[in-house]
Amino acid sequence: MSNPFTPEQLIRKEIFSLSAYHVPPAIGMIKLDAMENPYLLPMFLRKEIALLAENAPINRYPDASAMALKKTLRDHLRISDEMDILLGNGSDEIIQMIAMAIAKPNAVLMSVEPAFVMFRMIATFANTQYVGVTLNKDFTIDLDAMLFAIAKHNPAVIFLAYPNNPTGNLFDEEAILRIIAATSGLVVIDEAYHVFANASMIDRLGSFPNVLLMRTLSKVGLAGLRLGLLVGRTQWLRHFEKIRLPYNISTMTQLITEKVLQHTDILSQQADAIKLERVKVNASLSAMNGIEVFPSRANFILFRVKNAGQVFQSLKQRCILIKNLDGTHPLLENCLRITIGMPEENTQFCSALHDIISQT
Ligand code: PMP
Repeated sequence: MSNPFTPEQLIRKEIFSLSAYHVPPAIGMIKLDAMENPYLLPMFLRKEIALLAENAPINRYPDASAMALKKTLRDHLRISDEMDILLGNGSDEIIQMIAMAIAKPNAVLMSVEPAFVMFRMIATFANTQYVGVTLNKDFTIDLDAMLFAIAKHNPAVIFLAYPNNPTGNLFDEEAILRIIAATSGLVVIDEAYHVFANASMIDRLGSFPNVLLMRTLSKVGLAGLRLGLLVGRTQWLRHFEKIRLPYNISTMTQLITEKVLQHTDILSQQADAIKLERVKVNASLSAMNGIEVFPSRANFILFRVKNAGQVFQSLKQRCILIKNLDGTHPLLENCLRITIGMPEENTQFCSALHDIISQT
């Protein structure tokens, strides 16, 4: 046998030099780093789910088209008949399907910076060129820079998170409409955090043939199920559908999501509780000396301290895990992001932060 290749020889160089998406261990920690909903479902519903699990035909493959679930989602989101739905194992997977579908040589996937890191990473996986257009200092869209970049790179697809992660703000709708008007490519509005924003562009879908809208159930309390969806015209979705692996949505995800969506009042109550806590955490942070707090329409808050690394470590020593964004982008210098947790977790976080800040 000839000499076997090393990974370095065989793996694409951009993958070889990539760092894997880091998920820090969180056992025993107050976990406020990943935009999860901190609340479990009520016991009666968990018992109904247990019954579903007991009777689920997991010896069989899932329904590949997830027909029943799609119908429930269509009713739930009041999606018009002219629009189609594509399901992903989380919206991450949908970003990947779109990136794979458009990955012609020299195709560009565009977003703003800082934005959700997976836009850039998935572009790399899919062998697509990534262009990130820097936001203004206050995290609004730099429209001139964006329009210039669109004219220069002619992107195949632009991803815009609405509200944006990790900054938490909602971009100006007019600016988004200008971007939609300026590009010939697709625009994907990623509404991962829409339940906390009281805003959506879903009603705009019908007016623009090249606009798609992405949602996820991860932030409303079902992160462990992994379900994302894309809404848009069949002319686009039928092609992405070919890339979707046939059984990407597991039987349990289909069954449980359908069940939980019969109780959207519970999810809404939890989202309301999170929004209420967001106001409280924002007020606490704003009252602390030496902290700059950025307004949030999502279930997390971005804030700037004097020494993010030190504050992050001190919180960690007190078993509180948040996200340190310092060093990930120049606009995020000394920035930390806290996901809104349960009231007592938020109180602990605020009091720990207050102590740490006063000591430094
Ligand atoms: N879009 C945005 C803006 C996000 O912040 C995230 C998760 N952090 C996702 C998409 C992916 O979510 P999921 O894969 O859990 O659906």
